[in-house]
Amino acid sequence: MVIVIFVLVLWYGGLFFQSFFLHRYAAHQVFTMSKGMERLAFILTWVFQGASYLSAYGYGIMHRMHHAYTDTKDDPHSPSHDANLFAMMWKTKTIYQDINKQRVQIDSRFTKNVPQWTKFDSFASSRFSRLLWIIFYILFFVYFTTASWQWLLLPVTLLMAPIHGVIINWFGHIYGYVNYKMKNTSKNLFRFDFLMMGEGYHNNHHKHASRANFGVKWYEIDITYLIIKLLDALGYIQLKPVRVKKL
Ligand SMILES: [Zn+2]
Ligand SMILES: [Zn+2]
Repeated sequence: MVIVIFVLVLWYGGLFFQSFFLHRYAAHQVFTMSKGMERLAFILTWVFQGASYLSAYGYGIMHRMHHAYTDTKDDPHSPSHDANLFAMMWKTKTIYQDINKQRVQIDSRFTKNVPQWTKFDSFASSRFSRLLWIIFYILFFVYFTTASWQWLLLPVTLLMAPIHGVIINWFGHIYGYVNYKMKNTSKNLFRFDFLMMGEGYHNNHHKHASRANFGVKWYEIDITYLIIKLLDALGYIQLKPVRVKKL
């Protein structure tokens, strides 16, 4: 039971910071926050993503490229151009690392205002940090596992961020329904997104990339957006006003 709760905390915690910080803040900048809050978000992203930490810089730029080049050969990840899910994951990893280590020239429209905390990112992305998390997860499993099947959850903790990425970038471009007919394959995975905290409304998001709320229909409740609204109401972050027509 402890193991299941542990994995759920990492799943939804890691997902929240991917959606809230990396996606909606770093890539799309749907809200602003103080430097102090931004640094706290960097640290909490590291705490929850742990072994699979993604930097706001690498994620933000790569994700903007995904929106600009969706389903073309320049898309960093697309089921239309990658042979299978694992080939796509590998290519995504390579492009992410090239961006993160600044080995490639990037157009300024993709880098504009993407938050970067160079010192922290190089520590949080280091082999040393990843190894520490891996040792911690293994020790946690050794101590708390009560049935052998629970060990099957260990790889999920190690690969949390890539698993979250592949659910949206692979499955969210193949399966599901559309609210908007677009020149790309984006889909909404669920009518109520219990699994991906709103990220699953991927067709809505491709249509309105700068909108903080990914849900459009009444049943498309976006849990990350509800938390964003709460943080905005409490004054921790400042939502930018956006006018979008309702469906
Ligand atoms: Zn997409
Ligand atoms: Zn996006």
